Amino acid sequence: MNKSDKMSTSDVDEEIEFVNKDLKIQVKCPICHSQMLEDVYQTGCCGKLACHTCDSRLKKDGSNCFNCREQYKSHPDKNARGLIQDLKMHCPNAKKGCKWIGEVRDRKNHIKKGERDGDKVCKFEVIECCYGCKRKDTRKNMDKHEPDCPEKPYKCQYCKETIKQKDEESHMKSEVPKHLECAFDKFTQEIQSQKKEIVNMKLEMQASESTRLVTELQNQVTELQNQETRSQKENRASQNEITQLNNRVAELEGQLQQLQARRGLFSCLFCRRPPNN
Ligand SMILES: [Zn+2]
Ligand SMILES: [Zn+2]
Ligand SMILES: [Zn+2]
Ligand SMILES: [Zn+2]
Ligand SMILES: [Zn+2]
Repeated sequence: MNKSDKMSTSDVDEEIEFVNKDLKIQVKCPICHSQMLEDVYQTGCCGKLACHTCDSRLKKDGSNCFNCREQYKSHPDKNARGLIQDLKMHCPNAKKGCKWIGEVRDRKNHIKKGERDGDKVCKFEVIECCYGCKRKDTRKNMDKHEPDCPEKPYKCQYCKETIKQKDEESHMKSEVPKHLECAFDKFTQEIQSQKKEIVNMKLEMQASESTRLVTELQNQVTELQNQETRSQKENRASQNEITQLNNRVAELEGQLQQLQARRGLFSCLFCRRPPNN
């Protein structure tokens, strides 16, 4: 393959370099000499291959065949297309440093032309900055550029307005009164939320204090109830003792009366009076 033959194809900028230099398949269009990587057409007259662009033009113009000069007729050659898509190729960005080798059919997924990202995309493909600064560079270099791109928007930490990085300085200068107002609002909000917090803390403390008091009162009531039960028991015990003592007193009084009655029988021999007590 002639490397100096730089014809551009529809999906990559440079001509593809195949891993196997000795190709058994016709890859170049005999009319325009570009690489036929997608649709391939075969002439109905003499069986030659042509690329999609040339085939369309010949049909549109009603031309004769470029080879046998008969009326041009063609059909898609799926077999030739499949064989070309199977070929192993180097990444078109190999000269920039990409080591990718893959089948022709997978090249678009690797290059992802014009797209910022994707799975396992070529880091050496040139793309435009996603923030619209018009800078073009490889994805590899864009990874470094974009975070610092002057056009990159961000939210001002004070007023929350979206501004570009390049406008930061002028924004900070021109919006001083607005930023002061925002800071004051923020400060007021903070104070209010702190106030709320304090009120909640107070309520919590009061709640726990009243719970403690109720528990204490309940304990006191229980203690009093216990005391009452105890004194009731004691009362019953002393009632029994009193009854026993009363019984004893009555018994002793009975005995005394008996003794007095018996003593009355022995009156004084001289005065006949019963003896003095
Ligand atoms: Zn062609
Ligand atoms: Zn022909
Ligand atoms: Zn690559
Ligand atoms: Zn940029
Ligand atoms: Zn601001």
